[in-house]
Amino acid sequence: SLPGQAAAPGPATPASMDAFWMPFTANRQFRRTPRLLAAAEGMYYRDVEGRQILDGTAGLWCCNAGHARPRIVEAIARQAATMDFAPHFQMGSPLPFELAARLKELAPRPLDHVFFTNSGSESVDTALKIAIAWHRARGEGQRTRLIGREKAYHGVGFGGFSVGGLPNNRKWFGPGLPGVDHMRHTLDIARNAFSRGLPAHGVELAEDLERLVQLHDPSTIAAVIVEPISGSAGVILPPPGYLKRLREICDRYGILLIFDEVITGFGRVGAPFAAQRFEVTPDMMTVAKGLTSGCVPMGAVFVSDRVHEAFMQGPEGAIDLFHGYTYSGHPLACAAALATLDTYAEEGLLARALELEDYWADGLHGLRSSNPGIIDIRNYGLIGAIELAPQDGAPGARGYQVLERAFRKGLLVRTTGDTIALSPPLIVERQHIDDMFSMLGEVLATV
Ligand code: PLP
Repeated sequence: SLPGQAAAPGPATPASMDAFWMPFTANRQFRRTPRLLAAAEGMYYRDVEGRQILDGTAGLWCCNAGHARPRIVEAIARQAATMDFAPHFQMGSPLPFELAARLKELAPRPLDHVFFTNSGSESVDTALKIAIAWHRARGEGQRTRLIGREKAYHGVGFGGFSVGGLPNNRKWFGPGLPGVDHMRHTLDIARNAFSRGLPAHGVELAEDLERLVQLHDPSTIAAVIVEPISGSAGVILPPPGYLKRLREICDRYGILLIFDEVITGFGRVGAPFAAQRFEVTPDMMTVAKGLTSGCVPMGAVFVSDRVHEAFMQGPEGAIDLFHGYTYSGHPLACAAALATLDTYAEEGLLARALELEDYWADGLHGLRSSNPGIIDIRNYGLIGAIELAPQDGAPGARGYQVLERAFRKGLLVRTTGDTIALSPPLIVERQHIDDMFSMLGEVLATV
């Protein structure tokens, strides 16, 4: 029997669906045709009707260890019974210290310090604030500008959407933070369509940073933030040498480089962090999602020694950073994260995407013939994207059809517009990959 079959179906369809205003959802359409998950185990969800759904997206890029892993479940239950909550403002508890030390061992040097948050959005806003405060602490209070990139997704906080570059996430909410500019993105289907792995063309786009630095004057710029690989925008990969070039430009002008590794962190690309696979070390790194395998909300910001030290120069009794969350280092989240790291280590999951990368790429690129409307396929680590040409006058319609029909067939995918993204739990086996692409191929042939 398949893993997941033991999971009991959960509660039935709710009697009323009016009150929950769902995030990033077409709420009225959803209430008419709901897709309701009720249980999960290993590689599979079950919906409210008890149907098995293969998880092609690790939930929302987060359940990297798979679902309902016993070690993690037990750790959360044990911690809830031992100590539910502890304040961490001028007060402490052991687990966040233990977790930060463990995380430091996974991260590239010199990212030696960890600030805890509850989400990717909070991690991004925290990193941006630390960057501005760092320059101020060193007597450069005029460095307040932030540079992001078009098509970037850095969550939904005011900082995150401002440096982000997805028009729909920005246009409703006013101008956002002042003093923000954006580099061009690196998606270039005309030159790079159907690349296996990193796209060959586009390293010169890193020179956009030099252009913006000169436009605004280097002495005004605090930080540059990029996702090593953009996930939410539909999987956009860096051309070889692109991230290294950003690092060089930042170094030349005293600008901090922030990698948003909310999606790429914790094994998604075959190393603990994309920074290691790409051999480029940022000054700060934002994470969330895979930190707890999605079991309990938690995020974190890795901060380099040099950045951290600048905050430790004032009087010992003075608070060094006026920032933090009630739930920073929450005991349940820490317990979940520690058990998640144990699971990753025991099962070699942080390197598994590297082992499966070729098999994954073969299957994914094999879908090209399933529909003549496929205009690009992109892959890296255990990430995949299939881009369909939009239907005339109805962009996103094909993407939605794929999401809906795949779900009815028993496969969970993620779509952004007409791009289908895949990012399975890292416990995925070759058979799951075959099943995933076989179901998806059948669905693609119908749209
Ligand atoms: N940053 C990146 C790169 C993300 O992909 C996401 C979420 O997908 C976020 C930030 C926001 O994370 P959260 O939804 O936990 O706030």
